[in-house]
Amino acid sequence: MPRLHLSPPELTGAERDLLLDALASNWIAPLGPHVDAFEREVAAKVDMPHAVATSSGTAALHLALEVAGVTTGDEVWVSTLTFIASASPITYLGATPVFVDSEPTTWMMDTTRVAAELDAAARRGKLPRAIVTVDLYGVITDPAPLVEACRAHGVVIVEDAAEALGATLGGRPAGSLADLSILSFNGNKIITTSGGGMLLARRKDWADRARFLATQAREPVPHYEHQVVGYNYRLSNLLAAVGRAQLADLDRRVTTRRAINARYRERLAGLPGWRFLDEGPRQRASYWLTTATIDPAAFGATRDDVIAALAAADIEARPLWKPLHLQPAFRGCRTIGTGEVSQALFERGLCLPSGGQMTMDDVDRVATIAAAAGRAR
Ligand SMILES: *Cc1c(COP(=O)(O)O)cnc(C)c1O
Repeated sequence: MPRLHLSPPELTGAERDLLLDALASNWIAPLGPHVDAFEREVAAKVDMPHAVATSSGTAALHLALEVAGVTTGDEVWVSTLTFIASASPITYLGATPVFVDSEPTTWMMDTTRVAAELDAAARRGKLPRAIVTVDLYGVITDPAPLVEACRAHGVVIVEDAAEALGATLGGRPAGSLADLSILSFNGNKIITTSGGGMLLARRKDWADRARFLATQAREPVPHYEHQVVGYNYRLSNLLAAVGRAQLADLDRRVTTRRAINARYRERLAGLPGWRFLDEGPRQRASYWLTTATIDPAAFGATRDDVIAALAAADIEARPLWKPLHLQPAFRGCRTIGTGEVSQALFERGLCLPSGGQMTMDDVDRVATIAAAAGRAR
């Protein structure tokens, strides 16, 4: 049996043709026609007016925060239950992350609570410059309760949709629920360019500024003139060609990952102590990864027992993201809420293999081993 990974890259076959086209056109340099086309196609898919392709999702978030005006001394509020890339660009800009605990049912940022916190922060005279909402594991954080408070207080919402491309909320695509958003095309994401990302913006001036900063902030003059310091953050034309082939296959991938999620639920959701992450009301999640928590008292085995049993069968499973407020790198940062909800999710939660190449027999094999771990103890 080949090793089962969490979410390995998946090729469609069409990558080759587009790559060869890029090579044939001799357009190896960064930027080029495939980058422009990839930006147009992603913007259309996500229903955002402007897109800037970047070398990673982390780079896209760095640019998004910078064009949103985040600078030294600012606060940026961000979900604590997420990958570190949701927060590291905050520190690149000399700003301070404030970590928001999860809401217990949805696991996401509790946007109703954060709206109230914003009002309190305004009274104290210390508002954040921006708030990063994270669409976790393919489920969307509903920003609606936050929108009015953010508008009233001049706070920009940035949607980190890196894990949720293909998901929708009320028919709106993930990545279109805020004025700025980012995607990732890292190797483990639902579509990949091997490495890459995208910034999406509702405002043209934001996209233009991001594109400028991403190309070393070169002024449009023949010699190399720089008023400010920028970055080398653009995506290469070769990788954009790969991304176009991948994007064309997105809908099928979402259908597949949803089918995998449904099958896991069929097999495991009835077991004592298992609880799966659900899509919220009016949502169609992409279920990039299928995730669940295990109550060890009810199930008779811990999350780590299940991971170990799967590892023994050469199957990769992992804990949920370790909350950022528990990361040594962020020691001393403030948390909104106690942090205990996300900590408990981290202690009991796991990600199951969810790659698009999995067959239903593969899912059944994973589920059988996971279920047996409870009986074995
Ligand atoms: C993958 C990911 C990113 C960006 O990752 P890159 O590897 O830089 O493309 C950002 N946020 C979240 C939540 C992610 O999962």
